[in-house]
Amino acid sequence: MDTEPAIRIDNLVKEYASPGPGEAPKLALKGVSFDVPQGGIFGLLGPNGAGKSTLINILAGLVTKTSGSAEIWGFDIDESSRNAKRSIGIVPQEIVFDPFFTPFEVLENHGGFYGIGKADRRSEELLKAVRLFDKRDAYARTLSGGMKRRLLIAKAMVHSPPILVLDEPTAGVDVELRRQLWELVGELNAQGVTVVLTTHYLEEAEQLCDRIAIINHGELIANKPTRELVDMAREKIVSVTLDADVESAPSHEAFTKVELAGERGVEVTYDKDKLNAGQVLAILQEQGLKVEDVTTREADLEDVFVQLTGTGA
Ligand code: ADP
Repeated sequence: MDTEPAIRIDNLVKEYASPGPGEAPKLALKGVSFDVPQGGIFGLLGPNGAGKSTLINILAGLVTKTSGSAEIWGFDIDESSRNAKRSIGIVPQEIVFDPFFTPFEVLENHGGFYGIGKADRRSEELLKAVRLFDKRDAYARTLSGGMKRRLLIAKAMVHSPPILVLDEPTAGVDVELRRQLWELVGELNAQGVTVVLTTHYLEEAEQLCDRIAIINHGELIANKPTRELVDMAREKIVSVTLDADVESAPSHEAFTKVELAGERGVEVTYDKDKLNAGQVLAILQEQGLKVEDVTTREADLEDVFVQLTGTGA
């Protein structure tokens, strides 16, 4: 790739001090390295406690790293911390506003915090972008949860950073609001903003992100274009409905797992490198089972995630 990465993370280590006497210090990041390319939507996934927030908080300047280095838009977070911070907008997990400020004031104050002169502030433009212009002068405490989240995104964009980071932006958010938030993220990305997000919704990461990194126990265990990552799932499932009840699950050495599903249903998990669905059916028929109906399930990101981390999301 000839363009510089938006973010470069090199051998990042974070050890949190021991929380109390007799307790071990916590190694939250064990030497993580990866680049976030410019211009895409990059997903950072991992089970709870994997180290995602630690990593993002190091980039945000909220947590001090133990060792390693990171560059944001070419600026080292130690040597050029001011420029590094100006190059990134962070949307935190928690909603934090002074309830007595209006959305307009929240953005104006934040612009002031970044030293942006009144004439150069983008508060109105940003309120329009996140569809809060009509709430411009309402107290922040009267906004709905979804409006507050949109205001947080506008707030993170006040200084026009080339990179926007969203930490679990849709945790606990309803389906409609999630859709709206993703639409907004997509629009910002289309305007050239590099987006990094952490999420628990694997299906969403699969749809939205063009590249995904997975961390587990403080280690990077995958970093690939989404399509290649999903393709890593070796296991596939064929579900069949038989013409009669089965008492015990059929078995065969080539099957990874067989489960009964309801009275006449059988689910066969197999390794797609060794078998195909046709061969699975042929094996069942050889065993004297008559198949009435068949569905296959494609592997998805969740399968890969479970394979790599050994946990459900
Ligand atoms: P994630 O965001 O992936 O859920 P975190 O980065 O929050 O993971 O946490 C990574 C690990 O570091 C966890 O084991 C967590 O308990 C620990 N940890 C996080 N923050 C602190 C802290 N301030 N002090 C001590 N340990 C912490």
